[in-house]
Amino acid sequence: MIATVEHTQVEFPPSTRACPNCEGTAATKLPQYCRDGWDVCACDACGLVFLRNPPDYSELVEDFAWEKTYEAEAAFREKRNSLPRRLNSRFRKWQNRHFGKRHVNRLNRLLGGGATLDIGCGSGDRMGPPFTPYGIELSKALHAQADAYMKQHGGECLHAPGAEGVWMFPAGKFDSVIMHSYLEHEVEVLKTLRGCHHCLKPGGKIFVRVPNYASLNRRIAGPTWCGFRYPDHVNYFTLQTLRDVADKTGFDVKLVNRFSLWFNDNIHALLIKKDT
Ligand SMILES: [Zn+2]
Repeated sequence: MIATVEHTQVEFPPSTRACPNCEGTAATKLPQYCRDGWDVCACDACGLVFLRNPPDYSELVEDFAWEKTYEAEAAFREKRNSLPRRLNSRFRKWQNRHFGKRHVNRLNRLLGGGATLDIGCGSGDRMGPPFTPYGIELSKALHAQADAYMKQHGGECLHAPGAEGVWMFPAGKFDSVIMHSYLEHEVEVLKTLRGCHHCLKPGGKIFVRVPNYASLNRRIAGPTWCGFRYPDHVNYFTLQTLRDVADKTGFDVKLVNRFSLWFNDNIHALLIKKDT
């Protein structure tokens, strides 16, 4: 059964979350981007747009598990979208199914293989050889699949929130970290990135893919922009605010999709561990 956000009975938390970048507490509500009781705001100090009243992690384990709300959101969009958009979305699903190997090759080119931690790894099969796959996954059902797959390939998957799990690995264990459509879900951005800094080898890299709030499409589509997901997405980064959180936590940023950034709904970047 698909759980829909609209029909789930919840008490909305008070809007008290501080800015995940500068930790400022003053923020301005963006009513055009708020939906179903979820408050999207812009930080008055640094401009980062974020969800002010995210659900608890304990709710995310089952009630708002990513795979359920993703399906609910997809159904909502399918109903609302025009025919060309629906066809485009189906084409992209087909493309993902048939060209998944290209994705592994691309990650290999960017990260070079080795012991790699995929945070928010889903069912865990994003990585194949030459990666030794490790993961962290909050959803119970997806964690079980990921752990079985990763153990077959020499790694393992932890069942934990990313911000906690990343600290459970020894210092300097990993060659790289993958945050593919993850950081926009993470309430504790700085703690998670500091944890990555702890468990990466010197010069280790994080591949980050997050929705691009500064994209042309968001400016044109407004509230119907594909980057908005309620309540799963709790941070809406621009390249500048991504650079801010990276700098605070000991990383340099190398933009991967620099030529298409303004037209791309996502930012693709490498965060490279600075020498300290
Ligand atoms: Zn801020």
